[in-house]
Amino acid sequence: MLSSPITPFIFKQNFYHIKRDDLLKPFEGNKARKFYYFLKRDFPEIKRVISFGSNQSNAMYSLSKLCKIKGWEFIYYTNHIPSFLKQNPHGNYFEALKNGIKIVESDLRGDKLREFVLGLKDKNTLIIEEGGRIKESEEGIKILADEINEYCIKHNLKVFLPSGTGTTAYFLSKHLDVEVITVPCVGDSEYLKKQWSFLGGGKIPAIVEPKRKYYFGKLYKNLYDVWLELKNAGIEFDLLYDAIGWETLLYHNLQNILYIHQGGVLGNISMVKRYKRKFGY
Ligand SMILES: *Cc1c(COP(=O)(O)O)cnc(C)c1O
Repeated sequence: MLSSPITPFIFKQNFYHIKRDDLLKPFEGNKARKFYYFLKRDFPEIKRVISFGSNQSNAMYSLSKLCKIKGWEFIYYTNHIPSFLKQNPHGNYFEALKNGIKIVESDLRGDKLREFVLGLKDKNTLIIEEGGRIKESEEGIKILADEINEYCIKHNLKVFLPSGTGTTAYFLSKHLDVEVITVPCVGDSEYLKKQWSFLGGGKIPAIVEPKRKYYFGKLYKNLYDVWLELKNAGIEFDLLYDAIGWETLLYHNLQNILYIHQGGVLGNISMVKRYKRKFGY
């Protein structure tokens, strides 16, 4: 069910190894790793999944697919959905609708929304935290570690990946014998360290700082440019996380890298639309 190739990639005259988790099926990227635990087991009691987060999240789309495969109802809490998105559904939102998601708009935000959703748990309901920040994700991420460990040792590589909640980087570092390096894209490095202590602490990834401070989800012309250059070099990466990831990699001139492509390409549809509107690309 899992297993993806490692392919060579030349970018700005440097050679990289890319772990192509974007090619995984039935849904891709690190969400495939995170939700593998649920995909491979039977849960006779479970009838629905409830989760929450942004209206274009990769995790939302992946969960909609998981629920479709499992025959579970999928209820998802989010903040206000813009009317242009309702009128022109696209990207993760559109695909999730096609998979039968029931989206509830809520005025609750941040921890208030999280506590409300956690309170909806009952014996027929699985609650999944925003972005899949859950201990169950260790199982699938350990499989990823097992797939690349020998390769990294043989080629003397470090592993690099950009972080949201940091869950993927944390469990990779836990199960790999080589160094894992990450850059925070959602919070700062303090936020990442806090997430890692929630997940169990111990061996943690190395953190490198981005070239400048970015606000997650905001549009930056230089990030779009990096993303486009990567695409022209032959691989479409994610515009939210990977554009920061690659800029950071180049900024610190990190060499001998296995880069984890964590998927998210479907989310680019809405990001590119926003860039077009703002910068006229
Ligand atoms: C979800 C996601 C991330 C963040 O993963 P974390 O485990 O939360 O750090 C990074 N890249 C892509 C493409 C994602 O979809």
